[in-house]
Amino acid sequence: MKIKDIRAGYLNLKLKEPFTISLGTISEAKNVIVEIETDEGYIGWGEAAPMPLVTGDFQEGVLQGVMQFLRPLLLGEDPRMVCRISALMEKVIQGNPGAKVAVEMALFDLLGKIYGMPLYIFWGGNDNSFESDYTISIDKPDIMASKVEPLLEKGYRALKVKVGKDSQEDIKRVAAVAGAIAGRAKIRLDANQGWEVKEAVATIQEMEKFNVELVEEPIVRGNIEGMTFIRNRVNVPIMADETVFSPRDALKVIKAGAADLINIKLMKAGGIIAAREIDSLAATAGIECMVGCMIESRLAMTAAAHLVASSGNITRADLDAPGFLRSDPVIGGAEVKGGVCTLPEKPGLGLEIKRQEVKFVDNT
Ligand SMILES: [Mg+2]
Repeated sequence: MKIKDIRAGYLNLKLKEPFTISLGTISEAKNVIVEIETDEGYIGWGEAAPMPLVTGDFQEGVLQGVMQFLRPLLLGEDPRMVCRISALMEKVIQGNPGAKVAVEMALFDLLGKIYGMPLYIFWGGNDNSFESDYTISIDKPDIMASKVEPLLEKGYRALKVKVGKDSQEDIKRVAAVAGAIAGRAKIRLDANQGWEVKEAVATIQEMEKFNVELVEEPIVRGNIEGMTFIRNRVNVPIMADETVFSPRDALKVIKAGAADLINIKLMKAGGIIAAREIDSLAATAGIECMVGCMIESRLAMTAAAHLVASSGNITRADLDAPGFLRSDPVIGGAEVKGGVCTLPEKPGLGLEIKRQEVKFVDNT
């Protein structure tokens, strides 16, 4: 079997309201769709959700990466040899995780379709449904607290609260949200690198009384010694997010004892193979993982959901981004209802992209 064509296009997705984290505000996701066709007529889909703030790649770069560098390299390759193709991609592009993961996602979608298996089964199979949290973006404490009740009514049992802008105000934010939750859901915090090391220790210690389940990425990414310092001084579990892009990053964090938990994102890992390697390393070290997302449509989110459903070590999911979007360009795929995400029993990702929503670029 051979790859006959690779197409890529723009998928711009407007958010219902601006999404603010300590690193900045986003009001539109500028994503990329990749479509791979085999000589036997199978079609696989992938999505990149580049986020310059976090991953350093961006829409035009992902599109050019796919069309100018990966397409000529991969035409004629056997699409079933995903490991081989992944290694080839690594040789021609340094970084640009979005381009690589979108291609890998499409290849796995093809594999599932060719062999008639949902991907989470293909990858081992653990459970076809799981809970996902929902994220409350940074705002004034009372506004953040006002978001709680509607989410609890929808059925969410874990809320992720963005902090990391100003530690004193952050404590007020968490107090307000915790007050509104009143013990009815878990509270996860994400500082997105916003605190200094000692500030993080004092702030997290102060927040312990709000029954915080975990704190993500408290300080600037890559400061592994700082993370270990914090982890040794607080009771709340520390989760590495932006510090862990690759399996190698995960190994460093594990060796340093810098985190209790790791947040895997396909868009950081630059591949599903790499994402699964991170989970394997973490599982071996006794560290549970969460799978999170960027501002993704249900295409990439469904790929992430298959990953969650394939592993017993992925005990948490933060796959809320499709809920932020004004439109849904996907038919089928993972469904989130009442905070519970369920995967379809269809082959591959189990979805169709509405092609009219994608602005495909010229192949020549
Ligand atoms: Mg995070």
